Amino acid sequence: MKLCECGCNKVTKWNKQFKRYNTYLNGHGQKGKKWTEEQKETLKKTRTREKCSMWNRKHSEETKKKMSKCKLGIKNPMHNKIFTNEERKRRSEAHKGKIFSKETRKKLRLINLGKKDSI
Ligand SMILES: [Zn+2]
Repeated sequence: MKLCECGCNKVTKWNKQFKRYNTYLNGHGQKGKKWTEEQKETLKKTRTREKCSMWNRKHSEETKKKMSKCKLGIKNPMHNKIFTNEERKRRSEAHKGKIFSKETRKKLRLINLGKKDSI
């Protein structure tokens, strides 16, 4: 009989293959494992966010424009979707009585600016 070495005081299972008790219970082996400084360094290096190409970088205005352009037209999920009158009515009913805050109205205005059916 052997106790798990992680310190949980549970008895490990008999290992038929090696004809001895396991050192750890299943999944206990990594518990409280001490990493060497070297191992920590490599981990840091491999996991560093610098690997991500956009890390610490912002899209330039130009890129942002390009990106938004991509969403316009045919690629836009709402492209060519015309609401039926009924649908329009339903939508308008749903929004009736809703009071938008100044902030929201401002946002909505900005969103709708330049659209064909903007007021
Ligand atoms: Zn354990």
